[in-house]
Amino acid sequence: MKATCFMGRNTVEVQEVPDPRILNARDAIVKITSTAICGSDLHLVDGYVPTMMHGDVLGHEFMGEVVELGSQVDNLKIGDRVVVPFCIACGVCTACQKELYSLCENSNPNAWMAEKLWGHAGAGAFGYSHLTGGYAGGQAEYARVPFADFGPLKVPDGMPDEQALFLSDILPTGYMGADLCDIEPGDVIAVWGCGPVGQFAIASAFLLGAERVIAIDRFPYRLQMAREHSGAETINYEETNVPDALREMTAGRGPDACIDAVGMEAHGHGPMYAYDRVMQASRMETDRPIALREAIMACRNGGTVSVLGVYGGFIDKFPMGSVMNRALTIRTGQTPVQRYMRPLLERIQNGEIDPTFIITHTLPLEQAPHGYDIFKHKLDGCEKVVLKPGMTPAA
Ligand SMILES: [Zn+2]
Ligand SMILES: [Zn+2]
Repeated sequence: MKATCFMGRNTVEVQEVPDPRILNARDAIVKITSTAICGSDLHLVDGYVPTMMHGDVLGHEFMGEVVELGSQVDNLKIGDRVVVPFCIACGVCTACQKELYSLCENSNPNAWMAEKLWGHAGAGAFGYSHLTGGYAGGQAEYARVPFADFGPLKVPDGMPDEQALFLSDILPTGYMGADLCDIEPGDVIAVWGCGPVGQFAIASAFLLGAERVIAIDRFPYRLQMAREHSGAETINYEETNVPDALREMTAGRGPDACIDAVGMEAHGHGPMYAYDRVMQASRMETDRPIALREAIMACRNGGTVSVLGVYGGFIDKFPMGSVMNRALTIRTGQTPVQRYMRPLLERIQNGEIDPTFIITHTLPLEQAPHGYDIFKHKLDGCEKVVLKPGMTPAA
């Protein structure tokens, strides 16, 4: 089959690889109809996540048709359309019983690697380095889905792929970012990053009752999407000093909650940014926490900082004094997608949210390298790329 493979830092190629096979009784094989490129795939390709190997199949956002089933999967039939959560969860361990599906204790065969870096391991995930199990990803024609009797969600008849696909990761992730803020009427929420997750965090904050949402980015087309689609107020950090602007917009108090939808490859200005570039390039720190530091410093006393951006390891110059003295709460996590999929599917069916607004490009799978290029470099107004195996390239 054809699959999108990591071929070394900054190199993505579509290659012929062996078809996946059923290995365990709870596996399914899914023929992929739609898959997407995620901001966190860029961290892998840019070389910021350890344990990626030459030839690893990328992709953790995918959906398709069940074509083969292990003997113990009795809730799915051949031919069912399913959307697959990025984190792999058994459904029965202690973590899964607490609905902490992204921390499943049974799905990461390489837990020992993650324990070295993080103390304890999280769940396995598709296409996301060997730290999370080394599972082949879904930017491919087929994928093997472990614990298929628990994770995948059946897509209602008549719902287009585009409406269901983002239930695999970024819609639950953006929604969780707002959910973790415990929004109360009148709240002002600031969101760093207007990529796909940021856009869904903004829309979800309004859905959960925020009075105002302030979106921060440097790309005018992304800020425009946040304004026009969701009604956010916007700050372009290349033109405006963000801390000053936020103080001014919130009567000096700061936003009630701040959401970091940027993560480890943040951009910025000034000596702190230069410091982080040097520290990261020399491997003295793994991540550049520019947006996170700014979100902490900007948040109102007693407020919440909700961290959706991906971090890999260790950060430097973390403003713990601000967190402690001002009684901030930091909440974060890889999203337990399985907990959010069903309620969000209902919100899509009720018309409360239409996740298709972020899609700017739909390409055949073969053009995945081009998709990575325009997404990474923010070319051609790129917000979100959907890849379709079997789609004929436009003439
Ligand atoms: Zn993703
Ligand atoms: Zn589990």
